[in-house]
Amino acid sequence: MSTAAAAYALPAPDGAFEKVTIERRELGPHDVLIDVKYAGICHSDIHTARDEWGGTRYPCVPGHEIAGLVAAVGSAVTRHKVGDRVGVGCMVDSCGKCAPCLADEEQYCQAGATMTYNSTVDPAVQPGGYTMGGYSTQVVVTENFVVSIPEGIGLDVAAPLLCAGVTLFSPLRHWQAGPGKRVAIIGMGGLGHVGVKIAAAMGAEVTVLSHSLSKQEDGKRFGANHYYATGDRQTFRELRGRFDLILNTVSADLPLDDYMKLLNLDGTLVILGLPENPMTVKPFTLAGYRRSLAGSMIGGIAQTQEMLDFCAQHGIGAEIELISADEIDSAYDRVVASDVRYRFVIDTATM
Ligand code: NAP
Ligand code: ZN
Ligand code: ZN
Repeated sequence: MSTAAAAYALPAPDGAFEKVTIERRELGPHDVLIDVKYAGICHSDIHTARDEWGGTRYPCVPGHEIAGLVAAVGSAVTRHKVGDRVGVGCMVDSCGKCAPCLADEEQYCQAGATMTYNSTVDPAVQPGGYTMGGYSTQVVVTENFVVSIPEGIGLDVAAPLLCAGVTLFSPLRHWQAGPGKRVAIIGMGGLGHVGVKIAAAMGAEVTVLSHSLSKQEDGKRFGANHYYATGDRQTFRELRGRFDLILNTVSADLPLDDYMKLLNLDGTLVILGLPENPMTVKPFTLAGYRRSLAGSMIGGIAQTQEMLDFCAQHGIGAEIELISADEIDSAYDRVVASDVRYRFVIDTATM
C-alpha cells in the first residue's frame, strides 16, 4: 500500500509554499519508509524552487537534508530496521554499475544519479513521474541511499550535514586538508559554517573570507584561526599567495580572479557555490603560480556515512534556526539576504 504524506510544495517559481498531500510508493523489497523529523533548507532548494537553474517541475517539493526515523522496511532490507535514526541527502538512487558508482562516487554517476527532488523517475517510483523531497512527513528511499545518524548528534542539527556537511567534507578530504595546510572558506552560510567546523577538526589552519566582519565571533567559535572581510580591498593585498586550498561556497557571482590570486604555489580553488552565471579567471593568474581551479559536487553515500561518523566523533552539528512549515517562504528570503544563523531547519511536526 502506498503512503499519503503531508508536504509543502511551491506551485510556481514566484508562488508561495502551500500544504499538499503527496503519495509515496508502496515499499519494494529494498525500500525504507522514513518518518521525516527535520528537513534543512539548502540554498540549492531555493535555486531549484525559484527555477534559477531552469527545468524545475511544479508542484515542487524541495528538501535534501533529511533526518528521521525508520517507520517500516521492505522484506529484503538488511541495512536498517524500524526505529533507526537515519538520513537522506541529495541522491536517492544511481545506476550502480558505472565506474563512478563502483568507486562510491554515485554523485558522478554516468547515467545521472536520481536526485532527491525534481529528478525524472518512473511513476511507480514516485507517483507524478518526478521525485519529491524532504519538506514532507514521509519519504521512501532504497536502503543503499539511506545513511545512519550516530547517536551522538541530534537529528535536528544532523539534518544539514546530509548536504552541507558532505559537500564540504568531500573536497576537504580529496585535497587533503589537515595539519600544515592553509584552508580558506569563502562565505560563511549553511555550507561555509560546517566547512569551518570540519576543516578545523581535521587540523587545518582555517581562514574565513566573509563579505563583512559581522559573523567574526561565530567564525572563531566554530574553529576558524583567521577571519577577513572581502568588502575590504586590503584583504586581497594582505592574503595574496597565502592558501593551499580555497573552498568557494558563495551562492552569488564573485570576482573569481581576485580570489584565485590568494592561492599559493600549486594551490587549488574549488567551486562549490552554484550561481547560474559564468565566472572568469585570467590565464596569467592560473599559470603564474601553477594554480588550479576545480569543482566538487556533494559526496558519495559511503563518504556521507564517513562524514556523519567524523562529525559525531568531533561533536560537530550544524548551527540551526528551527522553523515551522508555514515559515518556509520568509526563511527563503532571509537565506537570500544572507540573514541566516546558519541553517534553517523545518520541524515536520508542524506539518
Ligand atoms: P547560504 O547559506 O545562502 O550561504 C551562502 C553564503 O555566501 C552567504 O552566507 C554569504 O556568506 C555568501 N554570499 C551570499 N551572497 C553573496 C554576495 N552577493 N556576495 C558575496 N557573498 C555572498 O547558501 P548555502 O546553502 O551554503 O549554499 C551555497 C551555494 O552552494 C549555493 O549556490 C548552493 O546551490 C550551492 N551548493 C552546492 C553544492 C555542491 O554540491 N557543489 C551543494 C550544496 C549547495 P558571508 O555572509 O559569509 O559573506
Ligand atoms: Zn544542498
Ligand atoms: Zn552510475
